[in-house]
Amino acid sequence: MMINRILYRISRSIRETYYLYFPDYNFLSILENNLVWGLTIETCNICNANCIFCGYQYQKRKKKIMPENMYKKIIDDYDSIGGGKLGFGGPIGDPLLDPFLLDRIHYARQFSNIKIISFMTNCINLHNIGVKNLLTSGLNNIFVSTSGFDLKAHNIIYRSNKAEVMKNNLINLVRMNRELGKPCKITIGLRTYQPINEVLNDREFREIAEMSDSVLAQYYYDDWGGRIKPTSLPKGMKIRPLILSLWRRKAPCSMLYGSITILSDGTATMCGCRDINGDSELVLGNIKESSLLELYKSYNLKNIRKYWLNDKRIPNICQDCRHYNPFTYSMLKEVRINAKC
Ligand code: SF4
Ligand code: SF4
Repeated sequence: MMINRILYRISRSIRETYYLYFPDYNFLSILENNLVWGLTIETCNICNANCIFCGYQYQKRKKKIMPENMYKKIIDDYDSIGGGKLGFGGPIGDPLLDPFLLDRIHYARQFSNIKIISFMTNCINLHNIGVKNLLTSGLNNIFVSTSGFDLKAHNIIYRSNKAEVMKNNLINLVRMNRELGKPCKITIGLRTYQPINEVLNDREFREIAEMSDSVLAQYYYDDWGGRIKPTSLPKGMKIRPLILSLWRRKAPCSMLYGSITILSDGTATMCGCRDINGDSELVLGNIKESSLLELYKSYNLKNIRKYWLNDKRIPNICQDCRHYNPFTYSMLKEVRINAKC
């Protein structure tokens, strides 16, 4: 099993290196012209946790709930260009704190062009939205970020005193999903300093883990452009190594192809992962002034890619980013577009 995994990783690295020198330009052109990986909308940039590994603590933007008319315009624009996957989120914020979340999901669900709807949450505010309401809203995927049911670990990592509430909400979510015939795919993302066996030793958590669709444990964490130091994380949580930085000079980041993020004030950015203040060179404009297509096909974005690819001019925000992944990753056969999604 282990040997197979190692062989697979070696073969994947060889294939990815091949694309670094011989990019698949046809595939690249599809990514440049279409939002094949989808659209992300940050309907609110507010969170009720303050995780030690997250850039939320460094956000300078005003906390905001996206106005409904702006949200509807984005969805209408997305539908008019063919739609696809839709995610609620962005660099930071928990969608369950958006008071219009259910209405927004219902609105998007009316469009047959809008396919899979997903988001990530810490589950702390789920009881206020209602578990059944959420599971029957038209949502397809929920990714729950948690440290498991060790309440002390939750307090340390999420810096929230709502561990017990999160635990009850997560149990209700997973159980209700099963009762309803699994309308949503539930993935549990473990962010903890404890060994995974220790987390699974908790009987209630093990039951939830078994009923969910998958449990993914995260070992490495981004440093958010050098803001988070290794000493800020407890033993057992490590900063991601800069292993891919050698490729950075050759290949633009995969975030610049096939997706776009609209922040809660309408700012369109190509990096819905690390542009926490919406003020980087990856900002393309504002959805209030342009259509989604105009933003994605903008001259500005074409230049960012071109300068990175040909002149090795890397945007400042990307220069030491540990979240970087070369665009060649998306050329691997197993990550190519599933047109039915
Ligand atoms: S729950 Fe998510 S958005 Fe909130 S602080 Fe933690 S990682 Fe950041
Ligand atoms: S390198 Fe980092 S900041 Fe730049 S687009 Fe990629 S993930 Fe975002």
